[in-house]
Amino acid sequence: MSSEFDIIRRHFVRPLRQTRQGIGDDCARVAVQPGMELVITSDLLIENTHFLPDADPESLGHKALAVNLSDLAAAGATPLWVTLAAALPRADEDWIAAFARGFFALAERHEVDLIGGDTTRGARCFCVTAMGEVPAGLGLGRGGARPGDDIWVSGELGGAALALEARLGRLRLDPEDLRALGARLDRPEPQVELGGRLRGLASSAIDLSDGLAGDLGHVCERSGVAAEIEWAELPRPAALEAFGDSALSVRCALEGGDDYELLFTTPPSRRDEIRAIASDLSLPLARIGAITPPVTGARVRVRGAHGADIAHAGRGYDHFAAGTA
Ligand code: ADP
Ligand code: MG
Repeated sequence: MSSEFDIIRRHFVRPLRQTRQGIGDDCARVAVQPGMELVITSDLLIENTHFLPDADPESLGHKALAVNLSDLAAAGATPLWVTLAAALPRADEDWIAAFARGFFALAERHEVDLIGGDTTRGARCFCVTAMGEVPAGLGLGRGGARPGDDIWVSGELGGAALALEARLGRLRLDPEDLRALGARLDRPEPQVELGGRLRGLASSAIDLSDGLAGDLGHVCERSGVAAEIEWAELPRPAALEAFGDSALSVRCALEGGDDYELLFTTPPSRRDEIRAIASDLSLPLARIGAITPPVTGARVRVRGAHGADIAHAGRGYDHFAAGTA
């Protein structure tokens, strides 16, 4: 029978790169470099809310960390340290080992140390806190977008939501598309390098976790502006393009979450620099619209191919919204 401490030692203690005191004491201790700011974020993954009981544990380990690294990326921060508080129904060594494999494969790619946490028995739940650094004054946030700024997104939008629709049995996808888009849903790639390159360049940034319309709405709200985007410019996977301008397409591309791409704004004078970053990182960056002066009413306008606006719910997923209880 494994004890709590056996589980921690076997699965969560790894060599550390940039930590003075890691797992094994009451607290972890790290040194923050002079001239840098500490950037901190937490995300919670709960069984039956964020994942199903039969979810692949290795993907879950990846995703628990990825969603946090994505938040640090949106802040322009370099990830350095994470803690993991885990509730597990039983000491299922194979399950925990697979979770740790997914978690550390991503942690190692980004040279992040797991420096502490907590482990208790309970309904499956994972809370990761991620910490990183950014040079003082260069951190990115939702608040700096100005009228006239370009709006950019990385990668493609709506693929994770389309995979989820297929898994819920609401539509059928070609098996190859389902595999590729399912991987985006299960193993999102946080855009850490892009976030770092946007320091001092982007006027605002946010990661797309809850759908473009809602997340861009957060930028508009915090920046005191509005936005106009062009439906035709939204980068969508071919499998989603196939659904044209249908309600499903709109739902996935504008309201669907879990893409974990970055949305950011820059003055038009910086277009060449953005294109250079796209080419350096081999990462598609698409200009999807522009920031406009504040308006009363819907902050995010989506212009359709023929000039008419495309209607959307204008908000992302809300755990406490009416009807989601
Ligand atoms: P305490 O009793 O002081 O809360 P614990 O006995 O819970 O400490 O944990 C022992 C050590 O293991 C601590 O350093 C803690 O940070 C670490 N730890 C516990 N659970 C995890 C986990 N899931 N991942 C990483 N470190 C963990
Ligand atoms: Mg404890």
